[in-house]
Amino acid sequence: MIAALMPSPIGHVLAGVAAAWTADLIPGDRDWRSAPATAGWYARAGGGFTVLCGALAAAPDLDLFFGGHRTITHSLAATAVVGLCAAAVAAATRRPIARIALTCALAYGTHLLLDLLGADPVPPEGIQLLWPFSRDWFISGWNVFEHTERRHPFSALSLGQNAKALVREIGILGPIAMMTWLVRVKALAGFSTELASRDHPTQ
Ligand SMILES: [Zn+2]
Repeated sequence: MIAALMPSPIGHVLAGVAAAWTADLIPGDRDWRSAPATAGWYARAGGGFTVLCGALAAAPDLDLFFGGHRTITHSLAATAVVGLCAAAVAAATRRPIARIALTCALAYGTHLLLDLLGADPVPPEGIQLLWPFSRDWFISGWNVFEHTERRHPFSALSLGQNAKALVREIGILGPIAMMTWLVRVKALAGFSTELASRDHPTQ
């Protein structure tokens, strides 16, 4: 069965990246997330960990390749497992465990949130948010995001629907990601100055 995606991977990646940048605003062990203003944009954007968060936010839809779309991978239980795995990797690599676990779970969790807010034309509508405790399907019905059409992807109808969905996703999530980026740039710049004055006190 070819099911609809709601929203597209592009929207999900944007949300995951915004989640990583938002988590960077939380004070604590985050010096490894900052880069000097002279560094390249990739380093300043948070490098590989930000990319990982974008990938995690799109990952639940990999279930399209295995069947059972919008079930196990779209649950709070799966989000918790992602957090636990991230914690284990953080512990093994001597990174801040709670921060990494929560950021990864947050990025993954944005996928569930966006799907809940999206339109779903394929019944049963929504996601099995509470799997394995309940097989009920959840959706807000608010249709904030349009569904993307994967059947006959090159037909005029599908191309039109997908373009419409993409414009809406980018229109909503683009400014959110941009805003988190700008706030983060300011916050981390202040943080770098703080670190520099701590390392080289003027008085
Ligand atoms: Zn999904």
